[in-house]
Amino acid sequence: MKRLSIFFILLSLAVLLTSPHFGIAAEGTCHVPGSVSQGHAFPVIVTGSKPFEARFTWREEELFVSSVPNPFASNPEEAHKAEVLLAVPLDAKGSLPLTIRANGKSHRFAVKALSVAWPQSILKVLPRYVQPPLEVQEKIARDREHSRQALALRTEKQWQLPLARPVPGGITSPFGGRRVFNGQPRAPHKGTDLRSPEGAPVRAAADGIAVLAEEQYYGGNTIYVDHGQGIFSVYCHLLEADVSVGDKVRRGQVIARSGATGRVTGAHLHFGFIVQGVSVDAMPLLDFPPKVTGGPSHSIFEKKASPKKARSKK
Ligand SMILES: [Zn+2]
Repeated sequence: MKRLSIFFILLSLAVLLTSPHFGIAAEGTCHVPGSVSQGHAFPVIVTGSKPFEARFTWREEELFVSSVPNPFASNPEEAHKAEVLLAVPLDAKGSLPLTIRANGKSHRFAVKALSVAWPQSILKVLPRYVQPPLEVQEKIARDREHSRQALALRTEKQWQLPLARPVPGGITSPFGGRRVFNGQPRAPHKGTDLRSPEGAPVRAAADGIAVLAEEQYYGGNTIYVDHGQGIFSVYCHLLEADVSVGDKVRRGQVIARSGATGRVTGAHLHFGFIVQGVSVDAMPLLDFPPKVTGGPSHSIFEKKASPKKARSKK
């Protein structure tokens, strides 16, 4: 718990130092970054002198957040805070409007989406995972419906930053890469593949509730953890799950063993992070403070192959 408190102090400081501040009259401030790269999540904090309700309108979704006491307030106007994590989709362009309503006032911001040069990966998998046979298409539709229902949940905030790294292994396939399976282009990679041998423990990225734990066609044995505010972590290709739907999990708790189930080329962990329906790169959220610009993340192979390029990334 002590460690988490320190993280929070650092987070508050980092946001204060790096974000533009916008006044809510004498009632406190909104901390909103001016630019965010595609495929990145970013925290937004509103503070006030008294308890308040804040409404965040972002990408056609409204999030209602009740303030909580702010133990690290540097002045009485920041005694209470409401915090959300929002996301810029990997194909977003231009300026995205954010409206924050708090203390009876509306504040409008524009968050500029910065382009990212997503890499391309060429992969070979069993043919049945590129052209699923007719008999499994019903199963795939069922999997999608289960995922959709889980991701539609909107619960109270439980997430905290930075995220815990679910496995210690390096990135074998980064988030956002355009993927070609057996010569056929498919959707961009919606998570990060981390090296992890079969049977290795997989840890929860943050506090939350397991809201999906089942075998899916592409993801194999899959777990979704709900962290509140429409924020979910996703763990795929597991050998087995150690938690069931409805279980409360803590940040860093072992929730599964990694494996090679579903559409895979070998044992690894596919780690996804979804913010109000938008998949983002979880890797910047493991760092402190979270980087809201930059990317893409680099794989361990890429660094070996072209160390110069990896180092000189902007
Ligand atoms: Zn993956």
